[in-house]
Order: sequence, then C-alpha cells, then structure tokens
Amino acid sequence: MPHASSGTDASDAGTFATLPLAPELLTNLDSLGYRIMTPIQAESLPLLLSGRDVIAQAKTGSGKTAAFGLGLLSRLTLASPRVQALVLCPTRELADQVAGEIRRLARSLPNVKVLTLCGGAPLGPQLGSLEHGAHIVVGTPGRVEEHLRKGSLTLDVLTVLVLDEADRMLDMGFQASMEAIIAETPARRQTLLFSATYTEGIRPIAEGVMRDPATVTVEETH
Ligand code: ADP
Ligand code: MG
Repeated sequence: MPHASSGTDASDAGTFATLPLAPELLTNLDSLGYRIMTPIQAESLPLLLSGRDVIAQAKTGSGKTAAFGLGLLSRLTLASPRVQALVLCPTRELADQVAGEIRRLARSLPNVKVLTLCGGAPLGPQLGSLEHGAHIVVGTPGRVEEHLRKGSLTLDVLTVLVLDEADRMLDMGFQASMEAIIAETPARRQTLLFSATYTEGIRPIAEGVMRDPATVTVEETH
C-alpha cells in the first residue's frame, strides 16, 4: 500500500526515528546499533527534547546516558566553544564512561568538544584544555567546584545541567558542592536529574533547583 515517504509509520514504533532529532544524530544512532529506545529513553526523551526539566529514575544499565546525552546534544550551538552543558557524576570512572558515550553519540556532528574534569587527575592539563574551550563538561562535583572558584571554568552560558546518579552523589556527601555549582549557572537552564534509585534526599534538591519537573520512573520488572 502506498504511503507518504516522510514522517513515521507503524514500523517506526518505539524507534529513535519518531523523535525530533537532527538527521545526523539519527544516522549515527543507526550505525551504533541503537534503533529501539529503551523504556527510560522512550519516556524521558520526548519530555526533555521539549525543554522540560525531568527527573528520571531507572535501574543501572537502562540507557540513561543516551537519554540525557541526546537531549543535551540537541541543544548545543556548535559555533560557540563555550560550556553549554554540564554533567555532574559521582565518580571519575562514571564521568569517563559518560564522556565516552556522549562522544560516540556526537561523532556525526562536527567537532563537539567534550571535556572531563575529575578529581584525582592533575589540574594543569585541565587548565590547558579549558583555555581551548569545550561545549560539554563532564565531571565530579569537587573538581568542577574548584575550577569555578579559580575562574578557569565559567557557566554563564550553560543551557543544560545534568545531575547523573544524583542518588549516589548525595550518598557521597556532594550536596553542598552541587549546590555551590548550581548557584553559578543561569536560572534559565534545563535541569535533568537521573538516578538509579529513589532517595528521599533527592526531593528537596529537586524542588530547590528544578522548574516544574516531569517525573519519569521505569519500574524494574521481575
Ligand atoms: P545507565 O546509565 O542507565 O546505567 P547506560 O547509559 O550506561 O545505562 O547504558 C547501558 C548500555 O546500554 C550501554 O552500553 C549503551 O551503549 C547501551 N544502550 C543505551 N541505549 C541503547 C539503545 N537504545 N539500544 C541499544 N543499546 C543501548
Ligand atoms: Mg548512568
């Protein structure tokens, strides 16, 4: 049966092709073997691509990185090598994984610069990299706060802030650091909070820093 060649049809159900993503991103997702969205991606991406603040909770391994990664990549102005997106992670290992996944998702876009700023790594090279500019910073709260205090990092044009594994960051005592960082970001920003578990402590943080957030939870199926 003939049908329009543009738009989506039944065979697209649940695929990334149903989303308002740049064609370069869709082609790259295909080459990465990402075709069907995971449940947390299917529920959170339409909301976060519409500009909403989102609280998303789903277990480890459910594809949360690509959910917020595609969201922030969709909002970058590549002409400006200034930090427009910041992802805070609880550990250096997780920050490296997130940066790696964002670089993979971004490889079809021209020259997206992703910089990791984590404690335990020497400051010197980080200062040099910051001078060259970056579109996206992925880091741990302590080191990001240190760069803000030194003036080596500024967040005045930030458009998206991601608190990844927010539950773990709170467990690790990063609350004050997170709040100090958030205070350096523009009020008009999109804030995305991702976590694997629901912690009571998340609620006051979320209420303090998010605007009318949509909450998306994918329950574990047994
Ligand atoms: P989480 O942050 O929820 O723990 P990750 O973002 O690390 O999970 O993703 C887990 C794995 O799933 C990664 O290896 C990633 O490459 C893969 N993945 C994510 N989304 C998809 C998808 N839509 N299709 C196939 N693989 C995916
Ligand atoms: Mg994750």
